[in-house]
Amino acid sequence: MSGLQLSNVIKRYGQTQVIHGIDLEIEHGEFCVFVGPSGCGKSTLLRMVAGLEETTSGQIEIGKRDVTHADPAQRGVAMVFQTYALYPHMSVGENMGFGLKMNGHPKAEISEKVGEAARILKLEDYLDRKPKALSGGQRQRVAIGRAIVRGPEVFLFDEPLSNLDAELRVEMRVEIARLHNEIGATMIYVTHDQVEAMTLADKIVVLRGGYIEQVGAPLTLYNDPDNKFVAGFIGSPAMNFFDGTNAGGTVTVPALGGATMRAPASLTADGSVTVGLRPNLMALGDGDSHVVDLSERLGGVSYHYLTAPDGARIVVEAHDQAAPPPGTKTGIAFNADDALFFDAKTEARLR
Ligand code: ADP
Repeated sequence: MSGLQLSNVIKRYGQTQVIHGIDLEIEHGEFCVFVGPSGCGKSTLLRMVAGLEETTSGQIEIGKRDVTHADPAQRGVAMVFQTYALYPHMSVGENMGFGLKMNGHPKAEISEKVGEAARILKLEDYLDRKPKALSGGQRQRVAIGRAIVRGPEVFLFDEPLSNLDAELRVEMRVEIARLHNEIGATMIYVTHDQVEAMTLADKIVVLRGGYIEQVGAPLTLYNDPDNKFVAGFIGSPAMNFFDGTNAGGTVTVPALGGATMRAPASLTADGSVTVGLRPNLMALGDGDSHVVDLSERLGGVSYHYLTAPDGARIVVEAHDQAAPPPGTKTGIAFNADDALFFDAKTEARLR
């Protein structure tokens, strides 16, 4: 079994602590994605699992083995980097088999493993080519193939699709999902792209400032976020947030034309509260309380950018091709039951 267990993992660079006591369990065969904005510590944490960064304190176990201070080569992991890091003078096949060759594996075994990886990644026709004669997507497949050939317990991906153009990213994303289904290995994948996280992960770990904000299945994070940060980070376009005021269990929201809604059970104090509504759960409605600033029509979906009576900005997602001209006055429609509530200070979810 090759699950992982991180216990109170801390990383300091000199006086600066960048990872603050991470506790995390990743199960055997799970696809776990570390996601968060730039600088949140996701690459550092991955590199600590890989053994490329020293762990300041805490413990990292892979398959019940304490590998906290083990050599990278002793951890049973293989890493795929954003920059493919292929040897330019070696063919695709030689690149993929190089690790095994260095470890003295027999030629026949290397050839069989390279052949199998090439089959999985549809690289059979390219085995004799040099990396420079490949597209970006093909090069990244070679880098993934090199990881597969090593037969690791855990695959580590560090933003592997960032260097590819939009179309190839989608293609490779599907291939990586397919690869996980086919070989069923434990995978940890770092990205700043919440769409990649949502589409690939069994389990998403949302990081901010070196802390875990929430861990959960993609739709759990989407439907039931623990705090405003996760609510705003997961989902595109991002959730709309409004200032509301609670008085005796009724929340009034000026940005929604003074609409009122029932306060959640855990909100007992009167005063400020943050209200969240997803763009797809809002619509243009009757009335003239809001102003359309801009509409984007993408064909199947349109986004309307509105200004509310209190100056707040609102995004509404529509599934028609209507485009009210900028400056049009409109009302707004939503179901108050769809609103989520957050503590105005701590940003914790109020349920
Ligand atoms: P991410 O991958 O989420 O963009 P990183 O893991 O690369 O973030 O970085 C996390 C934090 O650690 C950042 O604030 C970064 O500036 C800091 N950091 C990374 N490497 C070093 C280093 N060698 N020395 C000091 N600080 C570092």
